[in-house]
Amino acid sequence: MPEAGPTCRHDDAGAAAAPAAGPLPDALGWIAGEIDALREAGLERPQRVRSGRQGRTVALDGRTLLNFGSNDYLGYAGDVRLTKAASKASCAEGFGAGASPLVSGHSRAHETLERSITALLDVGAALVFPSGFAANAATLAAVAGPGDFIASDARNHASIIDGCRLSRAEIGIYPHRDMAALDRLLAGAAGPRRRIVVTDTLFSMDGSRAPLADLCDLARRHGAILVVDEAHATGLFGDRGSGLVEATGCADGVHVRIGTLSKAIGAAGGFVAGHPDLVHWLRHTARAWIFSTAHPPAVAAAAARGIALVGAEPDRRRTLATRAALFRERLAAAGLDTGVAEAQIVPVILGAADAAVAAAAALAAEGFFVPAIRPPSVPQGMSLVRASVCWHHTVEDLERLAATLARHAAA
Ligand code: PMP
Repeated sequence: MPEAGPTCRHDDAGAAAAPAAGPLPDALGWIAGEIDALREAGLERPQRVRSGRQGRTVALDGRTLLNFGSNDYLGYAGDVRLTKAASKASCAEGFGAGASPLVSGHSRAHETLERSITALLDVGAALVFPSGFAANAATLAAVAGPGDFIASDARNHASIIDGCRLSRAEIGIYPHRDMAALDRLLAGAAGPRRRIVVTDTLFSMDGSRAPLADLCDLARRHGAILVVDEAHATGLFGDRGSGLVEATGCADGVHVRIGTLSKAIGAAGGFVAGHPDLVHWLRHTARAWIFSTAHPPAVAAAAARGIALVGAEPDRRRTLATRAALFRERLAAAGLDTGVAEAQIVPVILGAADAAVAAAAALAAEGFFVPAIRPPSVPQGMSLVRASVCWHHTVEDLERLAATLARHAAA
């Protein structure tokens, strides 16, 4: 287990009092009706407050639960080695970056981070964004424009969807992982200037993998640009741990590789990696990068440390893969519907939104934090509870959760 933090205790004494609500201004009166409708449909979302760090357990709203609701897949988010790297960079470079990267915000810590990403992915260049969301949205809007065509998987992340819309290209949605449908879409879009195919590599809601070899083949045959988002795969797959592109041997067929530093890497931020000319072009066109302050040097240094740890501690991703497989097996043996889950993201599909909320509440009552996922994150009728298996979960944790899930999903 990682060293516990030094004397970093959170001091709540100075927290501001809850703000007074006051009446809703007339101009915003419609919001009350919208929120009522969400509540009635079982779709209102609570804001939980976490105390302390991410880890095997998490304290939410003052209750400590076994934590199956984080993307801290390798346990680095709360690792003191990242905290120390961040402190050192803060001491050397100050906390705030103070400007956008092209002005004076790109510090030595950012430069080092971009080099460590290129080494991890074995690519020519990389560009770090303030978030993975910004990386997806800005990159799609930079590589596609009016007159172009983007084919996008129906279960792609919201940031990809927004990037497609931002580009003002024509958008074609193909059913989740349906390669025949994608083939038809691309064949029918022979006119536009550029054609782009975009997909998550590991889908965040159902834990399925994109058929990368087939996607490369289709993109090659249709002369399309292939853009992939490795947000949930970065740090976890392949010999170097760079993601599913590496693990499936598809690096030559993928033109634009996007990832996050906020999940397995344990820090924050997003990146785009590929040919140096692509990255140079993005420096002139990716608006969320050009017009946004660089993230703090401390964050860049923590991310670089997280990437170094991915290289130095490959056993963590191997242990995680074995444990996640064991968990999926236990759920399948109990007759639970885990859909097409193939990795550390393991959904149990329950159907109605209120069934998912009830299951999450029942699990919490027994000490497990397993979030309910409802529309719009998943299609109507496909609500689920999603367990994110992390390196720090023990076999016993997983077996207990599987047994508890079996009781509640059967109820
Ligand atoms: N892509 C996917 C598939 C994601 O799940 C997420 C975050 N949930 C993002 C991109 C955005 O990454 P970030 O949290 O770093 O903004």
